[in-house]
Amino acid sequence: KKVLLTGIKPTGIPHLGNYFGAIKPALTMVSDDSYDARLFIADYHSINTIRDPKILKQYVYEVAATWLSCGLDPEKVLLYRQSSVPETLELNTILNAFTAKGLMNRAHAYKAAVDKNREKDKPEDHGINMGLYTYPILMAADILLFDANVVPVGKDQVQHVEMACDIAQAINHNYKSELLTIPSYVIDENTKTIVGMDGRKMSKSYGNAIELFLPEKKLKKTINKIVTNSQEIEEVKDPETCNVFALYKLFATKEQQDKLAKTYRAGGMGWGHAKGELFEVVNAELKPIRDKYYDLMDNKDYIDEVLKKGEAKAREIAAQKILKLRKAIGID
Ligand code: ATP
Repeated sequence: KKVLLTGIKPTGIPHLGNYFGAIKPALTMVSDDSYDARLFIADYHSINTIRDPKILKQYVYEVAATWLSCGLDPEKVLLYRQSSVPETLELNTILNAFTAKGLMNRAHAYKAAVDKNREKDKPEDHGINMGLYTYPILMAADILLFDANVVPVGKDQVQHVEMACDIAQAINHNYKSELLTIPSYVIDENTKTIVGMDGRKMSKSYGNAIELFLPEKKLKKTINKIVTNSQEIEEVKDPETCNVFALYKLFATKEQQDKLAKTYRAGGMGWGHAKGELFEVVNAELKPIRDKYYDLMDNKDYIDEVLKKGEAKAREIAAQKILKLRKAIGID
C-alpha cells in the first residue's frame, strides 16, 4: 500500500481552506482503503507563532476533533501529534546537514515575510525566527520519516513538498541507497486555493477565514461580510468573478450552481440573496460535522485516547526508520 501523509498546524480553528485543501481530499483518498494513511497535528510548527501553552493545547484538540468529526476513522488511519514523535527532530537534524541555505532563502513563507518587512521599511529579517526560516526542513522530516508516497496539499504547500524531494535526493545520492522515499504532492485543481472573504487565499493569518465550526448564527453573519462589488440590485452580475459564488461552487450541486449563475446574469439579484443561498448550502454540509465536533470537544478523554494510540504506532514506525538512517550514516 502507498503511504499518504498530510498535516495541519494547530494555529487556530480550521477553516474552509483547510477543509477543501487538505481534510476532504485526504479523507476521500483514504476512504477506499488503497492507502496507508498518516495524518498528523503539526504542533512543533505552531510554536513559531503560538506562544501560549493553554491556547496551543486547545488548538491541538480542535484540529484532532476536526479530523475525527470530518470522518477520520482512527481504527484505519493513524492520527498523531508531531511532537509525540521526537524522532522527527533527529531526522530534522540530519536533513539540516544536507540542506543548502540557499534553498531556504527561496522558500515562499520566508520570502513573503521578508517582502512584508521591506514594504514597511523594516530590516528584512525583522521578527523572523529560525522556525519560520527552516520550516521546510521540519516539514521534510515529517514527510520523510514516514516514507510518504503522496502528500495531499493546497497550492501554498507544493514548494515545501518539492523541497522535501530535493533534500531526500541529496541524502540518497550521498549514501548511494534509496534510504528515503521520494514523495509526490497531490493537488486538486478545483480546490487548490480556496478564497477567503476578501478574495485573497483563505488563511488564518490574513483574518479572512471562515471557520469550519461557526455556530449557525455566526456563520450567517460571517457569510454576510464576504466582500462583493458595489453593483446595484438591478445590474447584471458575473458569478465567475464573485467571492460568494467561488465559495458556493464548493458546496452546491451542478444544478444549484447553474441556477444561481442564471440569477446572477438575469439582473435583479441583490448580494443578500446570493449570500443567503451560500449560507444554505454551507450550513447543510457542515451541520452534521459541526454537531459531531462539539460532542468531541466535550469528550477530550476520547481524543486523548485516540492520540495516545496514534503515538504508540507512529513511534514504532519512526524508530525503525531512524535506526536504518543511523546505520547508513554511521552513527548507530
Ligand atoms: P495559515 O492560515 O496560518 O497560513 P493555514 O490555514 O494555511 O495556515 P496550514 O496548517 O498551513 O493552515 O495548512 C493545512 C493544509 O490546508 C495545507 O495542506 C494547506 O495547503 C491547506 N490550505 C490552507 N489554506 C488553504 C486554502 N486557502 N486553499 C486551499 N488549501 C489550503
